[in-house]
Amino acid sequence: MALDSAKVIAQGISKEGGLFVPESFPAISDEMFEKLIGMTYKERAAAILSLYLTDFTEAEILHCVNGAYTGTFENEDPAPLVEVKTGMHLLELWHGPTCAFKDMALQLLPYLLTTSAGKTAPEKTMVILVATSGDTGKAALDGFADVEKTKIIVFFPQEGVSPMQKLQMTTQTGNNVAVCAIHGNFDDAQTGVKNIFADESMKEFLAGADMEFSSANSINFGRLVPQVVYYVSAYCDLLKNGTLKKGEGFNVTVPTGNFGNILAAVYAKKMGVPIKKFICASNKNNILTDFIRTGTYDRNRAFYTTTSPSMDILISSNLERLLYHLYDNDTAAVSGLMDQLKKNGKYSISSDVLAKLQSEFYGGFCDDTATRETIRKHFKENNYLCDTHTGVAVNVYEQYVAETGDNTPCVIASTASPYKFAAAVLDAVKDENEAMPDNEFDMVERLSAITGTKIPAPLATLKDKTVLHKTCVHKEEMSGFIRDFLKK
Ligand SMILES: *Cc1c(COP(=O)(O)O)cnc(C)c1O
Repeated sequence: MALDSAKVIAQGISKEGGLFVPESFPAISDEMFEKLIGMTYKERAAAILSLYLTDFTEAEILHCVNGAYTGTFENEDPAPLVEVKTGMHLLELWHGPTCAFKDMALQLLPYLLTTSAGKTAPEKTMVILVATSGDTGKAALDGFADVEKTKIIVFFPQEGVSPMQKLQMTTQTGNNVAVCAIHGNFDDAQTGVKNIFADESMKEFLAGADMEFSSANSINFGRLVPQVVYYVSAYCDLLKNGTLKKGEGFNVTVPTGNFGNILAAVYAKKMGVPIKKFICASNKNNILTDFIRTGTYDRNRAFYTTTSPSMDILISSNLERLLYHLYDNDTAAVSGLMDQLKKNGKYSISSDVLAKLQSEFYGGFCDDTATRETIRKHFKENNYLCDTHTGVAVNVYEQYVAETGDNTPCVIASTASPYKFAAAVLDAVKDENEAMPDNEFDMVERLSAITGTKIPAPLATLKDKTVLHKTCVHKEEMSGFIRDFLKK
């Protein structure tokens, strides 16, 4: 069913439980690219968003973009492109308030959501429910804190997030925020949230209070559009700095978990950005590598905890959207595959669809040891410090070049500040026989001393903040926690 963008964003997920996808992709004309090249990031974002959000006025779009990207990121340009060595361009997406790439979308989503809700259900308060393995929770809290007509509730696994990530969440201020740990792992938190979304008595309770659930997860289309912008913008920067001439293409490498970030690159290509290869990088949880190489997606396998936790995932939700496009919008074929995934934990795509996939995608992975070596090597050789997720991407990019000899310029999504994963990054760059400090803040200090890089302000000030959220509940108590908070 076709819906206006305001409805799609406010609702988050379709009534049937499927994911929203655009009916067709707006094309960026040559003339528009010429204009985009001369624009700032915010101007580019407004121009691209207006192609999708056709039911928003120009003033509404400017309000959203300016609110999201003014004074919130370290630099005027929220997504700088850094050439680390010839052909290798790192797109740094982590200069926002929580030091990971999810800020790019989650600073903008509250504006899109409240503007959408203002059009579709102005009297309602939106209740954003999030289950997080770390980065999404904090980015959503920061984006939604004290936003009128919204409340945000974040659940995280007590033992499943890094000390830095936990402190980022438990010190969050704001009158409309609740943060709660749960006994269990990320899957428990995620399943709990999914059940609450579907719970009829909870829906009645919300309706009685003039409230409505929405999602800040990357299944919400409002999360994807802001991510399309930075790929278009990176292409404009490559044209502007002379790396590419008009008509020349480039590759992208993306460290992938839920498949949201790399899907945004696919959408950018559908709009006319000349991306040749999508290099999909995974850690030891290499289910996507296997899928791209064999055409079989099989989640019946061991789950590993790695130094790149935001990619420790066995079900990449947004892959469903890619399948839909690969199957030429055949919804029945895609729901067939999703049913098999639910029932048997696996599915295989047909050989012609696999050929289509492989013509555009390369899949690769590396383990923690290789990630560590990559971080160390690039710091020594290029004086560039990257985090563990970005380290995985750089490693897989280098595997790709070694295997194919393809030296096309490549944009690598750099998804987190190295300071956010200080333990693993420090371990990679410090002298072999130097002992590790025993707490996270000392590691951060040491990392800065060794590398001569600056500690991002949001992490530097964390040490002095007060822990405000101390509740930890069992899975069965999540809905009670929500009701208590919403009654306040
Ligand atoms: C979320 C995240 C990823 C994975 O992005 P997806 O869109 O889920 O594929 C990679 N790196 C970091 C640092 C993240 O926070």
